[in-house]
Amino acid sequence: MTNSFKNIPIKSEASDAADELYEVRKKIQVRSVTGIFATYRWLLVWITQLVFYGMPWLTWNGRSAVLFDLTTRKFYIFGLIFWPQDLIYLALLLMVSAFGLFWWTAIAGRLWCGYACPQTVYTEIFMWIEEKIEGNHVARQKLDKAPFSARKLWLRGGKHAAWLALSLWTGFTFVAYFTPLATLFQETASWNFGPWEMFWIFFYGLATYGNAGFLREQVCKYMCPYARFQSVMFDRDTLIISYDTERGEPRGSRKKSADPAELGLGSCIDCGICVQVCPTGIDIRKGLQYECIGCAACIDGCDQVMEKMNYPKGLIRYTTENALEHAYDEKKGLMSHILRPRIILYTAILAILVAAMIGTLAVRNPLKVDVLRDRNTLVRETAYGLENVYTINIINTDEAVHSFSVDVDGINGIKLASDTKLPIQMTPGSTQKFSVRVIADPAEAKPGTYEIHFKVQALDTPAMSRVEESSFISR
Ligand code: SF4
Ligand code: SF4
Repeated sequence: MTNSFKNIPIKSEASDAADELYEVRKKIQVRSVTGIFATYRWLLVWITQLVFYGMPWLTWNGRSAVLFDLTTRKFYIFGLIFWPQDLIYLALLLMVSAFGLFWWTAIAGRLWCGYACPQTVYTEIFMWIEEKIEGNHVARQKLDKAPFSARKLWLRGGKHAAWLALSLWTGFTFVAYFTPLATLFQETASWNFGPWEMFWIFFYGLATYGNAGFLREQVCKYMCPYARFQSVMFDRDTLIISYDTERGEPRGSRKKSADPAELGLGSCIDCGICVQVCPTGIDIRKGLQYECIGCAACIDGCDQVMEKMNYPKGLIRYTTENALEHAYDEKKGLMSHILRPRIILYTAILAILVAAMIGTLAVRNPLKVDVLRDRNTLVRETAYGLENVYTINIINTDEAVHSFSVDVDGINGIKLASDTKLPIQMTPGSTQKFSVRVIADPAEAKPGTYEIHFKVQALDTPAMSRVEESSFISR
C-alpha cells in the first residue's frame, strides 16, 4: 500500500515489527465448566467476597471493626489500634505476605492466580452474570455476530447495568474501609462526599468494571507484574497443570465404543473442550505457557470428557515436569518431591516470620511515649534548684481509658513539676503533649550532663509502662 504523493510505502519496516509485537485481541466467549476445581474456585469467590463485602458492616466498641482512618492516621483492626509508629507491623505483614506468596508458588505454581487473585475472582463473578443474562458461550457468540436489535440492546444493556451496579458497590465497599459505612451512607444520601471518597468509589468501581468486564485475560497476560517474575520461583518439582502428551497423542476423534489402541490413537479425542473453557483462550496441549493462570478449568473440562469416554481421568492434571518425564513414580513420589529441601527452608523462614509477627503483636505495649528536651533553655537556676524543661508526648493506643503517672529518676532527690495535672487521664486512642520541669539539687547535680529516665505508668495496668531515657544538664 502506498500514499498518493511519492509512492512511499505507508507501512514501514518499523510498523511491521510493531505489528508482530502487538497481538490483536480475539474476544473469548468462555464455556462454563463444572467439576471439583470449579467448586474450589467458587468456594474461594464466596470466602474472599464475604470477607471483602462483609467486613465494613462489622462493628467493634461502637466503631467499624476494620477501619483505616487516614485523616487521624490510625488503623483500627478489631481490638488493635495501629499508629504511624507501628509501621514495623505493616513491614512484617508485607514480608509475611510476600514470602507466603513465594512459598506457595514454589509448591504449587499459580494457585494464587487461578483461585484467589481479585482479577480471577471478579472475572468469575462477571462471567456468571454474563451467562445468566446473555446465555451460554454459544448463545453469546451468536449474539456477538447478530445485527443490532432491540433484543441485543436489552441483553447487552442489562448485562452492563448489572456489571456497573456491582462495580460501584465494590468501589463503595472499598471506600468503606477508610470512611465508616454509616458516614458514607449519610454522605451518599446528601451527595456530599469528602474530597477523595467520590473519586475512589468511581475509580475503584470503574477499574473493576474495566478489568473484569473487558480486559479480563489481558490483565494477566500483559499487565500483571507477578506473572512476569513468578517463573523464577518455579523448578521441575513445582506443581503445574499439564497435558499428558505421552498418553494423549496421537489425538483424534473416534466413537466411544472404538478401541484407541486399534486405531493407533491416544486418549485425546480432540474435542477442544479444554480450549473452550480456558479463560485465557490457550491450548494447554501445546505445553506450559506463560498465559496459563492455573485455574484448572481445563482439568475439569477434560475429566468430564474422559468420564464420558470411559477413559481414566487426569489426561490434563496437576503434576510436575519431573513426574511427566518419569524421573520418579508419579503416584508414589509426587508428595515427597513437592516437599523438597527448598520448600522446607522456605517453610522454616515463613514460620519464623509469622512467629515474629504474632510474638511482637502479643507483647505489643499500647502505651507510646516520646520525651524531648527543650533545647532553647539549657538550665535554669530557680529557688527550688536547677531546672531543665522537657516535652512529653503520651499516646494511649489502647481501647480503654487509663490514668498515667509520670516519674523521673537518675539523680539523688530529682523531682518533677508540671502545669498539667498528673496523673493524666487519657481516652482510648488519644494523644497528650505537655511540658514538665525537672528539678535537681545543685549539691547533687555537679556541673555536667546526667542520664535521667522518665517512667510513664498506667495506674490500673502494670504492664502498660514505658521508660524513656533523656539527659539533664547541670550548669
Ligand atoms: S478436553 Fe481433553 S480430550 Fe478434549 S481436546 Fe482437550 S485434552 Fe483432548
Ligand atoms: S490452560 Fe487450563 S489452567 Fe491454564 S488458564 Fe487455561 S484453563 Fe486455566
